[in-house]
Amino acid sequence: MLIKKGVITIKPIIRYNKITKAYGDLKVLKGIDFEIYPGEKVALIGPSGSGKTTLARLLMTLEEPSSGTIEVEGKLLWHEKINGKLVRAKEKHLHEMRKDIGMVFQHFYLFPHMTVLNNVMEAPITVLGMSKKEAKKQAELMIKKVGLIDKLNIYPVQLSGGQKQRVAIARALVMKPKIMLFDEPTSALDPELVGEVLDVIKEIAVEGNDTDMTMLLITHEMDFAREIADRIVFFDEGVIVEQGSPDELFDNPKTPRLQTFLSRFN
Ligand code: ADP
Repeated sequence: MLIKKGVITIKPIIRYNKITKAYGDLKVLKGIDFEIYPGEKVALIGPSGSGKTTLARLLMTLEEPSSGTIEVEGKLLWHEKINGKLVRAKEKHLHEMRKDIGMVFQHFYLFPHMTVLNNVMEAPITVLGMSKKEAKKQAELMIKKVGLIDKLNIYPVQLSGGQKQRVAIARALVMKPKIMLFDEPTSALDPELVGEVLDVIKEIAVEGNDTDMTMLLITHEMDFAREIADRIVFFDEGVIVEQGSPDELFDNPKTPRLQTFLSRFN
């Protein structure tokens, strides 16, 4: 489906088409049709275990769908069309597709034996083949952006949880991804450290409006979702139950399932 904005036709940057995912008998995703448009900031909300992370991991090519297809910029993610037939993509293809997508997880997964600077420089050199000099320049820019320029030569063990997560964000941003996924980026943090990480994400979201960075954010921070998202998607038991603008969804939830879910946050 295409949407028309004025005279310009905009194609989705991400398209899930009839996606299902099961682990053994457990059906986690039950036929998801879902589109995200370039530059859109979408927040995915819903109870734990409803399949939100699985949806994001499919996009990051960390999990394979049981059925259905996913397209990023019109290109098939998990499959390739060869002689008109849909076949499972080769690792090389998946590797290529991962480059446009940055991901920040609940846990930071920084390299403990590397300084902040080296953590952020690593992927541009090894994945993009950037020169060391250029990677250092880009890494420093991103570390500055997340407010940690004074920590360049520090090791992760010496950082707070909030600072570690900000390094993880810099490490994702340095790859200049077209799409950023955030999977509960603050839920492992002490409450007093949540704000600094949300502030950094907010800054990227606002700046992203100029650069057209697309964001998919899985979060339990409802006020934050309301503030930065263009669209909220409510997920429950492997299906999209309701979606709309933040005002529509939070002020006028239509389904009893969303009403019950939101009542827990009041
Ligand atoms: P959410 O992000 O909404 O909390 P998840 O996508 O993490 O939900 O999980 C959805 C369901 O899938 C849960 O019941 C979870 O236990 C199950 N699940 C997730 N990953 C696996 C896996 N690798 N193997 C088996 N079950 C899994």
